[in-house]
Amino acid sequence: MSARSYSFVNQKGGVGKTTTAISLAAYLAQAGQRVLLVDIDPQANATACLGVDHRGLKLDIYDGLIKRAGAADLILRSTRLGLSLLPASAALAGAQIELVDLPEREHLLQQLIEPLDGRFDYILIDCPPSLGILTLNALLSGRDGVIIPVQCEYLALEGLTQLMQTLQRVRAGLYPALKIRGMVMTMYDARTNLSQDVVAEVRSHFPEQVFDTVIPRSVRLAEAPSHGLPISVYAPRSTAGVAYAALAREVLSGDGVAWIPGSLEDEVAND
Ligand code: ATP
Ligand code: MG
Repeated sequence: MSARSYSFVNQKGGVGKTTTAISLAAYLAQAGQRVLLVDIDPQANATACLGVDHRGLKLDIYDGLIKRAGAADLILRSTRLGLSLLPASAALAGAQIELVDLPEREHLLQQLIEPLDGRFDYILIDCPPSLGILTLNALLSGRDGVIIPVQCEYLALEGLTQLMQTLQRVRAGLYPALKIRGMVMTMYDARTNLSQDVVAEVRSHFPEQVFDTVIPRSVRLAEAPSHGLPISVYAPRSTAGVAYAALAREVLSGDGVAWIPGSLEDEVAND
């Protein structure tokens, strides 16, 4: 069976793309899925947050995109997390300019990860906060749709409307089958009316497209990367840990995938 692949996209920076990609990857792995997390962001945050020093990497996704290495040579495996990573490094920043001159420049990631199809159940692709050539590659590789983290903040809807227009252009020009898998509301603060209003507003504009699970603002989530750990290991009983486990259940249910019983149990949040 072929892997399900999703890209994590929002042109706005700091909304929780990387955090959501890593957390979901970790919980899906915990649930028994074979997961590959692909970092296609020159900031290499997903790589760093999993405790990999990207400055010390001999090879990274850039070498794969320009066909200097095959995917199998690039993948790092965490036995502790049961998770595989296709790491990024700062070399990707220059790649954005170089790739533009390559043939089939939007399909390079697709070509790189295609041979991996049977080896994974899920391929999650963390994108940079821009809609350039790297994100286009991710959109075309995330065959099962785009997951859009949306920060619960003022003007969230404006940014989202802009993003939907851009995705529509990609659909019209390059990839008619481009799907939205869902929007994930992040950094929700239950004490503020603003958070509640933003969630209600986004749900009313995009009914059926917003995941039921809302990710709360949580200090534990901001701390986890400095320990090189996903929330599933660093603080599984935090409100954010519980929420990301729920998101994983929601994704698996929506995909019709059975998971290991007890692997994603509903814990009591205790920050
Ligand atoms: P970029 O656009 O730069 O790639 P991003 O969209 O990937 O950013 P993240 O890196 O996931 O966003 O999150 C931005 C910052 O907010 C990080 O420091 C992260 O630890 C923190 N953060 C993310 N989600 C939460 C949350 N729910 N509660 C508290 N802090 C969070
Ligand atoms: Mg990021």
